[in-house]
Amino acid sequence: MKLDVDVLRYLSKDDFRVLTAVEMGMRNHEIVPSELVHRIASLKHGGTYKVLKNLLRYKLLHHDSSKYDGFRLTYLGYDFLAIKTLVNRGVFTAVGRQLGVGKESDIFEVAREDGTVLAMKLHRLGRTSFRAVKSKRDYLRHRNSYNWLYLSRLAALKEFAFMKALEDHGFPVPNAVDCNRHCVIMSLVQGYPLVQVNQLQNPDSVFETIIGLVVRLAEHGLIHCDFNEFNIMIDDDEKVTMIDFPQMVSVSHQNAQMYFDRDVECIFKFFRKRFHLNFQETTDGDDGSDIDTDEGSRLSFASISKTAGFLDKELAASGFTRKDQVVIQKFIGGSIEESGSDDEGSDDGNESETNETNVDGLDSLHLAEQDVIHKNPDLNSKKEGVSEENQQNSEAGQGSEHDRHNASDKEDDNETVNENDAELMKRIEKQRRRAVSAVRGGRKSLASRNSYKDKGGKSSNNSKIQKQLNNW
Ligand code: ADP
Ligand code: MG
Repeated sequence: MKLDVDVLRYLSKDDFRVLTAVEMGMRNHEIVPSELVHRIASLKHGGTYKVLKNLLRYKLLHHDSSKYDGFRLTYLGYDFLAIKTLVNRGVFTAVGRQLGVGKESDIFEVAREDGTVLAMKLHRLGRTSFRAVKSKRDYLRHRNSYNWLYLSRLAALKEFAFMKALEDHGFPVPNAVDCNRHCVIMSLVQGYPLVQVNQLQNPDSVFETIIGLVVRLAEHGLIHCDFNEFNIMIDDDEKVTMIDFPQMVSVSHQNAQMYFDRDVECIFKFFRKRFHLNFQETTDGDDGSDIDTDEGSRLSFASISKTAGFLDKELAASGFTRKDQVVIQKFIGGSIEESGSDDEGSDDGNESETNETNVDGLDSLHLAEQDVIHKNPDLNSKKEGVSEENQQNSEAGQGSEHDRHNASDKEDDNETVNENDAELMKRIEKQRRRAVSAVRGGRKSLASRNSYKDKGGKSSNNSKIQKQLNNW
């Protein structure tokens, strides 16, 4: 989905008033009846109609007349509400280029008044789940009503709360700046995802740092659950930052051991393959023979002294409640396939891009197809390529980036490659080539490292947009 912030320039106070009216109506209605929109917005006679037309034109609303005449917000409409609120709060003044297209998020640069650049993550739950079931429309009749916007808001809140708490405890995470609706503002991490790095000066110490993080998280009562080369950023000084927290669970989760082992295993596999670290050690067996031991299996979850619940207070302080946790945990994931870095596809550069094949126009479908996979076991079990073991895992309600990535790949295999896919593939390939040559050609400056994550989105047009936003 394209976030064309230029549209913001054409939106008036009344436009936002009506947009907000629809948002308010959506607390109780999937589709907000036109009459209710009119009433909440309470614009002068006939005013709302004109505004609605404008909002539809920019795809900020979706019109639905299947049951009755009504409207709902699209992700784009939700984006604009969040952006406007954050701009009004003075959190940032301009939206710049796109940094990444995640499986269930879009990341943009935003700029503060003083020119400081931050990262804005817009959560987009439902994007992949919708894709996962769109070839299986039969199941959609079992769908339960669910609001993707609401779930995205919870995911953002959870991410913000965890990031803040982790930061307070000295973990290397982005600085959590602010959060509104489905949008998280954080500091911009220098460097790029580990998956894009082919050479390290000190692979051993980077490996140790990363594994140390998994252990320290567990000591603080937490498991990342998606700890892999896509969610670890590294800079020129080989300083590590971890990102992407909506799927984190407590060490008291019933599948904690499995998630912990999987996180650890992902890192071992990746370092073994990419940096040829050799973890096989030879020790003497009882009978005097040599036996191989894998260090991965020696990192035992049971042996870590964990303080479950340690972060609870901090999380609650950010407004993220236990109830929120239960709701979001039920939803996030939903499909687990083979995880790990053994998929050479990870060499394809930024996972975020390869994850996404065709999102244009999907925003208007998210709420129309209000299906919830976790409430319909059939959907999970019928998904292509889901191994039996992993299906069981999926019932635990968690999925990793790898899982989601792989699931998406398989879906994509089954789908006709359309023009958008071709265009995207071209961009991915170009980026991959740039990434590879950047690594081969020696170290580049931080700025240039970051620059190849640019997906050709609109470059910052700070002053123009800033002026417009300030006017609201
Ligand atoms: P998702 O949940 O969709 O996987 P992530 O949080 O992992 O989203 O972000 C997707 C990509 O966006 C990352 O791989 C990284 O390239 C980029 N990104 C995310 N957060 C930041 C940040 N704070 N600074 C710079 N780049 C970021
Ligand atoms: Mg990620």
